[in-house]
Amino acid sequence: MDLKQYVTIVEDWPKPGIRFKDITTIMDNGDAYKYATDQIVEYAKLKNVDMIVGPEARGFIIGCPVAYAMAKGFAPVRKEGKLPREVITAEYDLEYGTNVLAMHKDAIKPGQRVMIIDDLLATGGTVEATIKLIEQMGGVVAGCAFLIELTYLDGREKLKGYDICTLMQY
Ligand code: IMP
Repeated sequence: MDLKQYVTIVEDWPKPGIRFKDITTIMDNGDAYKYATDQIVEYAKLKNVDMIVGPEARGFIIGCPVAYAMAKGFAPVRKEGKLPREVITAEYDLEYGTNVLAMHKDAIKPGQRVMIIDDLLATGGTVEATIKLIEQMGGVVAGCAFLIELTYLDGREKLKGYDICTLMQY
């Protein structure tokens, strides 16, 4: 299946000059959503993962069906202040300012093999911070999977040494 035909490119959103890749038009097609999920499940099976981790909010949309299909757990990565129990945090740079991501401090058990799943790899900042959180808890990052990779932003450079799978490249 050519998944790209289900991605909608939204010009100048959220600000002028950005060509936003909207994946909701994958999700609203049952066959395309299942196909995309199944591709990532195949990859995650090869990596023998114990646990799926996804950053809010689109990482939940892709990560949760993968976790369900594999009967594995899912741990959310959220913006600071959203999770109810004790958290660990990691900060990363945005174009203007910084962002803080949080996970419950017991979300990952030492030695667990973890796969990070998100909709899109851009600069890699979100995943790099997520990797720090997982490794701080003693987890092993077995791979990172995305629907879309924006190759011109070179996120892979930040993630050197980690296994990455992307279903579509722009
Ligand atoms: P990064 O941290 O620069 O790699 O940005 C990745 C994050 O930004 C992901 O969580 C994406 O959901 C979000 N993101 C950036 N650009 C887009 C886009 O064009 N479509 C959907 N999400 C995007």
